[in-house]
Amino acid sequence: MTDIPHVVILGGGFGGLSTANEIRNSLSSSQVKITIIDKKDWFMVGFAKLWIINGTRTFENSIGHLNELEKKETTKHIL
Ligand SMILES: Cc1cc2nc3c(=O)[nH]c(=O)nc-3n(C[C@H](O)[C@H](O)[C@H](O)COP(=O)(O)OP(=O)(O)OC[C@H]3O[C@@H](n4cnc5c(N)ncnc54)[C@H](O)[C@@H]3O)c2cc1C
Repeated sequence: MTDIPHVVILGGGFGGLSTANEIRNSLSSSQVKITIIDKKDWFMVGFAKLWIINGTRTFENSIGHLNELEKKETTKHIL
């Protein structure tokens, strides 16, 4: 058990990921723990959906995996 602040962010979309990145860019993992909670384990930029619909891209090559957050010492929790 540590006594550093623990920031829990609900939603790993644009708002949640930007918030986590801003906090982590300012404070190291020894200063603050960050957890992102989402119902899915991936992120997609909204307009990529249009490319999927017209067949320019696939779903798989349009998403980013929230597992990547661990490189930034941010924990994810999938509901
Ligand atoms: C096709 C399309 C094109 C767009 N193009 C642009 C653009 O060009 N420029 C622009 O500025 N904006 C654009 N947008 C809008 C932009 O995507 C949104 O404004 C932005 O995503 C809002 O960010 P947010 O963090 O509030 O929500 P979101 O990015 O939607 O994130 C919310 C997160 O919360 C999670 N969540 C929600 N409910 C629950 C729950 N009950 N339990 C667990 N997790 C939950 C979701 O899974 C999601 O990951 C576009 C949107 C779409 C759909």
